[in-house]
Amino acid sequence: YREKLQKSGIYLDNQQWEAVQTTEGPLLILAGAGSGKTRVLTTRTAYMLSELNYSPKELILVTFTAKAAKEMKERMRLYPGLNRQTLNQLVIGTFHSIFYKMLMHHDPQRWSPSNLLKQDWLRQAMIKEAGRELNLDEKEFAFDQALTQISWWKNHLMAPEKIKGKDLFEERVVYLYKRYEEMRKAQNAFDFDDMLLGLYELLHENDRLLKRYQQRFSYVSVDEFQDINKVQVELITMLSDRTKNLCVVGDDDQSIYAFRGSEPSYILNFKERYHNTKMVILSENYRSSHEIVSSANNVIHTNRQRYQKQLHAQTSTHSPPLLFYPFDEEEEATMIVTDIKKQIETGANPEDFAILFRTNTAARALIERFISSSIPFQLDADGDSFYQRKAVRKILAYLQLGINPDDGHALTDLIGALFLKQETVQEIKAASITNNCTFVEALPLIKGLKPFQTKKLQTLPTKFKQLKEKSPIDAIAFIEQEMGFSEYVKKNGNEGNKMERGSDDVRDLKVVARQHDTIEDFLRHINHMTIKFDELRNQKANPNSVQLMTIHRAKGLEFKHVYILSTVEGGLPHDYALEAWRDGDDKPLEEERRLMYVAITRAEDSLKISIPLMRRGKKAFRSRFAREIQRIAPEQAHKSRERNVANGQGIHD
Ligand code: ATP
Ligand code: MG
Repeated sequence: YREKLQKSGIYLDNQQWEAVQTTEGPLLILAGAGSGKTRVLTTRTAYMLSELNYSPKELILVTFTAKAAKEMKERMRLYPGLNRQTLNQLVIGTFHSIFYKMLMHHDPQRWSPSNLLKQDWLRQAMIKEAGRELNLDEKEFAFDQALTQISWWKNHLMAPEKIKGKDLFEERVVYLYKRYEEMRKAQNAFDFDDMLLGLYELLHENDRLLKRYQQRFSYVSVDEFQDINKVQVELITMLSDRTKNLCVVGDDDQSIYAFRGSEPSYILNFKERYHNTKMVILSENYRSSHEIVSSANNVIHTNRQRYQKQLHAQTSTHSPPLLFYPFDEEEEATMIVTDIKKQIETGANPEDFAILFRTNTAARALIERFISSSIPFQLDADGDSFYQRKAVRKILAYLQLGINPDDGHALTDLIGALFLKQETVQEIKAASITNNCTFVEALPLIKGLKPFQTKKLQTLPTKFKQLKEKSPIDAIAFIEQEMGFSEYVKKNGNEGNKMERGSDDVRDLKVVARQHDTIEDFLRHINHMTIKFDELRNQKANPNSVQLMTIHRAKGLEFKHVYILSTVEGGLPHDYALEAWRDGDDKPLEEERRLMYVAITRAEDSLKISIPLMRRGKKAFRSRFAREIQRIAPEQAHKSRERNVANGQGIHD
């Protein structure tokens, strides 16, 4: 079979081949990035089907993202001796897709897709309703973070009754969790987590069904096992319990979903769980150039919590990573777009490029630059767009009310920043009708406030008038200093929500504001970008386009040319990890380092790392990860060609 494979251009080294031939019993493949783990998994499956003539119905192959599953299926098509019919019978997919199908099969009515709480806002609405029972302010409480926490608990099989909140915020979230589950059940609805949890509960209760599945699936394989969480590991264990033919593949250095409850301990303790595990280690990297592999090694070696592995480059290519230093995010975006454009003009394909970033908001300038370029591109990122961030929306609400003092949406967005409750909105609207004045003019008419509050509100109508006359950048400063916004951010910025960094967002907004002369023009730009952003999310996939994606989404994928955005302290590593690190907890920082490792190892031929000198309107410092690339192997440092290209030279070798 190995020869047949070679004829089809699929090569395997000896270790890989050994793993392919190990079809029975527990098998652990633990290896660094680009070492052919996924290739082994697909080849092993092909081998079992076409060489050993196993039935495709016996096999189940799980991976993490829909993209990865799709890619696996495409790779499978290239194997000799596999026909379409066989492939169609094979169960390949994400945890959610596979296990949800089982649930649907079992009870189509209860698990009908129409009962799925698909959009985030549906879940938000539910816990917000529960929040009212606690008198939580709808606009101010970190409901999105509460949902993340609830999801984490669910994935850890933790029922609300068993959890004791460790602070006031968490106590509230426990209550919301309990109510959320009650409301959800009353409506017969389920969320994404329930797709796994539901099957877990079902198989626990229904032994006959479990046995049936165990009979059917004799061979279970899982890719990216380092990111598995409690409920997933339980399901996999249950399914493979009869035969123990369980093959898991992963790299603890690429574990990047701790915030969602994934635990690398499952891969690291696999051998203890299954005593007769056969372990295969792959140490050749077939993806990237020599220098890219050693950069990745240099970075990841700094982590203390890891399984020591070797990784050597096998490719014949030599291309050191390039560090470049744009002035700020705007120049960073311009340089990258120009650089890619030039290469496309000389024959490169858009699909050869990926630009990776830590968070969605970090890509704001880049996305805007791509929108106004002619290069086909695709955005793959979850989370809010920059202009939907809490602090940003509040500033925009001030500006909108400056322009249109009767803007009801803006008033609703703003109300918390004035230290008022949502109910007051109705009162303001009523007062504006009775007194025949605008919403803004009605602000001082609110009753039942403390004298100092009333006094503050009295000054606002005049201030909104003054605001209107200013340039966008002056207007924002005015809002912060004269209209009480700084005070609000100070009091509210981080409460229960470390990730939401209000003042950073405002600084970033100022970068945009500086580019516009009038408030109207500024708001028009933002409106345009918001619409485009939504369009981007819903647009159909165009395979030949530049990929703009978060590092999380890029896991398992590879690209000829990779750019990493904003590799500065506070960007990558993210601020929240630095904060934890300063408080003596280096776990989050190690996870950030793994993210850097994942980002670096996506690149085949070229890796360009951007280190802006200014970020979000402030001086930035080069990321410790950029230093680590060079520090550990100084001979590499000379090779990686550094250029300060802030004066518009473009990215050069
Ligand atoms: P990641 O950790 O990023 O998921 P991986 O370990 O799954 O990476 P693969 O994606 O399977 O690695 O392989 C990386 C690249 O190397 C792919 O393009 C694959 O086709 C190629 N490759 C794997 N093994 C070999 C080999 N023996 N000879 C040549 N190319 C190989
Ligand atoms: Mg892989």
